[in-house]
Amino acid sequence: MKSNSSKLDGNSDTTDRLRMLPSVDSILNSEEGTALIESYGRDLVLEAVRGALDNARREIATGTNRTPEIFDLLADADRCLKDLLVPTLRPVINASGVIVHTNLGRAPISSAAIAAIRATAATYSTLEYNLAAGERGSRAVHAEKLLTRLTGAEAALVVNNNAAALLLMLTAICQGKEVIISRGQLVEIGGGFRVPDVMAQSGAILVEVGTTNRTHLKDYEQAISDNTAALLIAHHSNYKIIGFTSEPNVRELATLAHNHQLPLLYDQGSGALLDTEKFGMEHEPTIQDGLLNGADVIGFSGDKLVGGPQAGILCGRAGLIKKMKRHPLARAVRADKMCLAALSATLSRFLIGRAVEEVPVWRMISRTIDEIELVAHDWAEFLSIKGLSAEVFAGNSTVGGGSIPGSTLPTRLVAITHMNVTKLASDLRNHEPPVIARIMEDRLLLDPRTVLPGQEQQLLGAIVACS
Ligand SMILES: *Cc1c(COP(=O)(O)O)cnc(C)c1O
Repeated sequence: MKSNSSKLDGNSDTTDRLRMLPSVDSILNSEEGTALIESYGRDLVLEAVRGALDNARREIATGTNRTPEIFDLLADADRCLKDLLVPTLRPVINASGVIVHTNLGRAPISSAAIAAIRATAATYSTLEYNLAAGERGSRAVHAEKLLTRLTGAEAALVVNNNAAALLLMLTAICQGKEVIISRGQLVEIGGGFRVPDVMAQSGAILVEVGTTNRTHLKDYEQAISDNTAALLIAHHSNYKIIGFTSEPNVRELATLAHNHQLPLLYDQGSGALLDTEKFGMEHEPTIQDGLLNGADVIGFSGDKLVGGPQAGILCGRAGLIKKMKRHPLARAVRADKMCLAALSATLSRFLIGRAVEEVPVWRMISRTIDEIELVAHDWAEFLSIKGLSAEVFAGNSTVGGGSIPGSTLPTRLVAITHMNVTKLASDLRNHEPPVIARIMEDRLLLDPRTVLPGQEQQLLGAIVACS
């Protein structure tokens, strides 16, 4: 009997506690409730308050001693609303030293590009309007003039990304016909996307020639038939075949293609407009060289070495570009106004010779070792004063993003020795703003090269806070 009555007491206690919970109305009408409604609107707050009350009831049922008050319930609701509305796409500090980091949004864009977006996206614009004629215009005009001036191409077209550029190129030019490509170039370009899969979507018939490590001009020549629509080169943008290798170059393939009245299509990928060798990197074929060497259409990304917004850029012969512009698929993969604004502004930096100073990707590539060393020593000194074990080491930054295979730049790394580096790295990722660093054994490595101006204080603050 005794145990029964104590159980009954417990139940009546729970019932009392549930009865003591404030009503929805009293919560919403409280001063803090009204403030929350101001911030989030009544519907969302009502839902969150109901959720908070449900949580409280559940907790009371499990036998907690506390009955939450209006203030606690609103705090719970507020947390829940913040969680709902915090953007999942957030800025991070990239201290990894990978310049075009695929997972961190590739190229951070220039101030000029941001200004161009701001100037045209928040208002109506001439996106498809011809002011002189007072009638419909074409969005295709916006970046074309800059692209043709920069690359020497007869014509150009901008689409959503380079995978779309490749798809449009093959669909418009090769659909139902054969396109010849070296086996050494049938690769995966990251994110699980494979060149042969993209090509298959176009309805072009892939004719693979040669072997993984060696393909000769005569392999292409022997594969040319009445049903061939083009030869295709896919640039090795994220891997390198080393050793006993051979592949005909662009000029040789262009000559072969043209002798058979076929176009040479070239998926260049990285979009190198400047000579990478001048910056101490490996040679990366430039777009201008590709065209000079006879490629009839070149496709590349806007957000790798162009350092602009996500885009796929097609440059080449006027007739082929026109064919692509007119293809129905062009509409499905067209670039939006913000992309065109940002891309045009970025390209104009190259045209006036200020890309190295103003396009962040190139500013990072061109940072001198002396400059980086100075920054690294400043950081190490600051962190040492804060009681951390920080030293400066020689290391490498990478261009990354499937841009230049195996290409690195000498850098100086700040190495922080820590008892639990895995936890430190994880705490930094969960910091606001998150910091992405490298780990090597028991050290956390920070590369100043990819930390943008204005982020240094935040970075150092994060490290002090997390260690
Ligand atoms: C990066 C790359 C692609 C894909 O470009 P996205 O802009 O990511 O769509 C295709 N081909 C090559 C050779 C590349 O380097």
